[in-house]
Amino acid sequence: MTQMELNKRQTDILEIVKGNGPITGEQIAERLGLARATIRPDLAILTMAGYLDARPRVGYFYSGKKPVQSVEDSMIGMKVRDFQSMPVVIAEHISVYDAICQMFLEDVGTLFVIDDSLFLTGVLSRKDLLRTSLGGNDLNKMPVHVIMTRMPNITYCEKQDTLIQAAKKMIDKQIDALPVIERKGEGLAVVGRITKTNITAAFLSLGDDHEL
Ligand code: ADP
Repeated sequence: MTQMELNKRQTDILEIVKGNGPITGEQIAERLGLARATIRPDLAILTMAGYLDARPRVGYFYSGKKPVQSVEDSMIGMKVRDFQSMPVVIAEHISVYDAICQMFLEDVGTLFVIDDSLFLTGVLSRKDLLRTSLGGNDLNKMPVHVIMTRMPNITYCEKQDTLIQAAKKMIDKQIDALPVIERKGEGLAVVGRITKTNITAAFLSLGDDHEL
């Protein structure tokens, strides 16, 4: 995560206040052999960024608080691994009927389909199942592998990806969920799930670091 870069003089001021606070601007300037007016912008920056607190007639003191990050930096720091949910997976030979039951039972909008080696082979969305239900098929006889979106057309992400990358994939492909995968030799093991709900939760958590 990147933090605001402090210049040499700002770092010096921070050290002086850490060691001597509360201390007035005048006294800080004196220690640096500079005019009070010269360091005024630096004190303003350090105070606004949250490094220093200022009290009238007392002076500056070290806040001890973590400097506030920009929203942009907070967003870049958000990783898939920190926001992912548990994946719900079913086997390829499961019937469409059972897949629908599974979707209700697990309360998810997307199911991931795996083969006998437990590798990702497909994705089933709510509308995939609805469309098939409307088609007059025998849902008990039809296996999900017939109707699922299959590899290599599956969009996925990995734990170490940023949440921004995952969100962008969902928007670009107009899909609601991504499997989080780990490469295992030839195959992709499903280890998690990122949905639009996770992105919304991440969006809300930005409010924890910033006064919004
Ligand atoms: P819904 O169909 O309920 O609106 P989606 O928008 O997620 O849900 O799905 C739209 C289509 O995209 C479906 O046919 C689904 O199989 C497919 N799909 C969903 N997620 C993915 C994914 N991660 N990769 C590839 N295709 C997907």
